[in-house]
Amino acid sequence: MEIKTPKFCFLEDKFIPWEDGKVPITTHALHYGTAVFGGLRGYWNEEEHQLYVFRIRDHFERLHDSTKLVLIDLKYSVDELITITRELLRKNEFKADVYIRPLAFKSVAPKIIGLDITQVPSSFLMFAFEFGEYLPLTGGLSVCTSTWRRIPDLVIPARGKISGGYINASLAKAEATLSGFSDAIFLTEDGYVSEGSAANLFIVRKGILVTPPVYADILEGIVRRSLLQVAADLGIPTEVRPIQRSELYVSDEIFFCGTGVQLAPIAKVDYRTIKNPDMPVTKKMQEEFFAIIRGKRKKYKEWLTPIYE
Ligand code: PMP
Repeated sequence: MEIKTPKFCFLEDKFIPWEDGKVPITTHALHYGTAVFGGLRGYWNEEEHQLYVFRIRDHFERLHDSTKLVLIDLKYSVDELITITRELLRKNEFKADVYIRPLAFKSVAPKIIGLDITQVPSSFLMFAFEFGEYLPLTGGLSVCTSTWRRIPDLVIPARGKISGGYINASLAKAEATLSGFSDAIFLTEDGYVSEGSAANLFIVRKGILVTPPVYADILEGIVRRSLLQVAADLGIPTEVRPIQRSELYVSDEIFFCGTGVQLAPIAKVDYRTIKNPDMPVTKKMQEEFFAIIRGKRKKYKEWLTPIYE
């Protein structure tokens, strides 16, 4: 997919031309992964000529939580971050689906080298670009369980979006794609299902939507939380409980969910085909989710922030 170059990005208090968005080679985060980030999506509604950002406040609240986990100072409040996002999207005049990436990071240490992050100043950047699908939304993915374990909370807090922790995700993703799969499912250190490389996971068993609990070292996903609510509203029973690897093989349906992935059905896990290739629950959830994010469900309009006046 070709990415159209945006006009502006945001770095250290200023909107600057995209090409000028650069950081020094001594940036702490570049060397040690000392950064936290967010990933938001804006959806273009053609009829209303409006760009809707999905659950913007929840994303920036989580970004603030992530900064707290790794002692990064983020000088902007949630409201200020929303204002910056709005301005960034408007300046770029996006009239298409976009992905938005805020990053709070440790900049340059006084002595350049050193791991005491309390001594390193923090900085912030944000950019956005036109973006479509991250993974295919129809047909169903073929995925594997990873030989890499999901980082336990006591190693790197899994509930936050911490840049350094994404080495774990990258290793699993690379292993999966090199082996001919689209993505990987992580197990926790004690062997329970955690999540995908960059997405949460649901299974369907006998009509019940099941997702692993936060203590399975998952990222506290905003789409996951939204889908639990949407399912309840649709009258689909849900359970948040541990899932064993072998339960994946006997599931009726499985799907990934998240901002990037959106809602992507899984057709095969470790070469085993899921039981119900018609995926009725997954399709119902997809239909509802895609209607919600484009502003077509009044009930959930408070999840959307319009960018243009
Ligand atoms: N898990 C991981 C590891 C992720 O990177 C993401 C994407 N942010 C998710 C889950 C899904 O989270 P969300 O629904 O908040 O995008």
